[in-house]
Amino acid sequence: MKRILITGGAGFVGSHLCKRLLNEGNEVICLDNYFTGAKSNIIDLLDHPHFEMVRHDITEPYYAEVDEIYNLACPASPVHYQYNPIKTIKTSVLGAINVLGLAKRVKAKVLQASTSEVYGDPLVHPQTESYWGHVNPIGIRSCYDEGKRCAETLFMDYHNQNKVAIKIIRIFNTYGPNMNPSDGRVVSNFIVQALQGKDITIFGDGLQTRSFQYVDDLVEGMIRMMNSERGFLGPVNLGNPNEFTMLELAQAIIELTDSKSKIIHLGLPQDDPKQRQPDISLAKNKLNGWEPKIQLREGLVSTINYFDKLLVSQKVASF
Ligand code: NAD
Ligand code: UDP
Ligand code: UDP
Repeated sequence: MKRILITGGAGFVGSHLCKRLLNEGNEVICLDNYFTGAKSNIIDLLDHPHFEMVRHDITEPYYAEVDEIYNLACPASPVHYQYNPIKTIKTSVLGAINVLGLAKRVKAKVLQASTSEVYGDPLVHPQTESYWGHVNPIGIRSCYDEGKRCAETLFMDYHNQNKVAIKIIRIFNTYGPNMNPSDGRVVSNFIVQALQGKDITIFGDGLQTRSFQYVDDLVEGMIRMMNSERGFLGPVNLGNPNEFTMLELAQAIIELTDSKSKIIHLGLPQDDPKQRQPDISLAKNKLNGWEPKIQLREGLVSTINYFDKLLVSQKVASF
């Protein structure tokens, strides 16, 4: 049995990872400050004898004896990471330093949840890991993008200087159950709007693209990366290469929810990337043929079911 620390474990991705690693017979310590995560995401795990929940802010040092660390602590949606940009960059940078210091002390393997945002508004399409990106260092997305870029640097430097065993993944837009309904990401926004019969808010003309990965495919890739050969550090892209415009996404969600919602267009936020699609050849090659199995419509159906139940239970609770 391994003892595994998951920072940000009460968040959307972290909660799925906690569950999967517990089911595989590991002991899991879930560390979270509950900024964007929720106890409801991990409530079913609290009674598990091998699960421990720690309320802690990763910008402060943390001491535990563990074999592996998945570092996910960081708000991930533009609305939340722009709410307190200084705190966001501290979380990425000081959080990375603290998990790396911990990994160095106990000789643990540590995986960093980096992001496709390191490519910024990319000039190369699809994005390969060798592309250095096109990132504004002083814009509204910079606290997140540059924080994650600096964290990648720290991971590489702790590996080179202190021999820490590291892994870096670059996650592309991921969706699924346990997303925070108010975190402003496009999939959760459109589904909640469609289920409530409210207008679907497309920012700009809706022709910008994203490639959406279902959370189970990501979790599978994360675990394969953690267990990959020691010499393979990444960074490696984990995403679904099927690319859609936001208009196509809105139309698919309206159809699947049988909604009467109308599409409206609002202003496009500053520095919003025009296109994003992962090249996943490296992941396929290094992670035993890993590739996403769940395509958009199938993944949307289970995400819609999740939000449908959540909205009904919130309605009942508000009476
Ligand atoms: P999320 O917001 O649901 O989860 C992040 C978790 O980190 C939350 O539970 C939050 O409370 C916690 N957290 C934030 N600041 C913290 C701090 N200072 N100390 C301790 N805990 C803190 O987001 P998510 O989608 O689950 O993302 C998880 C990770 O994956 C993040 O690092 C994110 O940058 C990365 N990522 C996600 C996506 C995606 O599409 N979901 C894409 C790229 C990268
Ligand atoms: N750290 C931690 N847990 C540990 C070991 C270290 O949180 O188990 C923190 C430590 O407080 C420091 C950071 O990790 O702020 C980096 O540690 P490192 O040993 O690399 O640097 P130093 O302590 O020499 O600054
Ligand atoms: N978006 C949108 N309507 C919304 C929320 C987002 O049209 O209600 C757009 C946003 O401008 C971006 C895309 O959807 O072009 C993906 O946004 P998200 O915040 O989910 O992720 P990111 O921009 O970080 O990839």
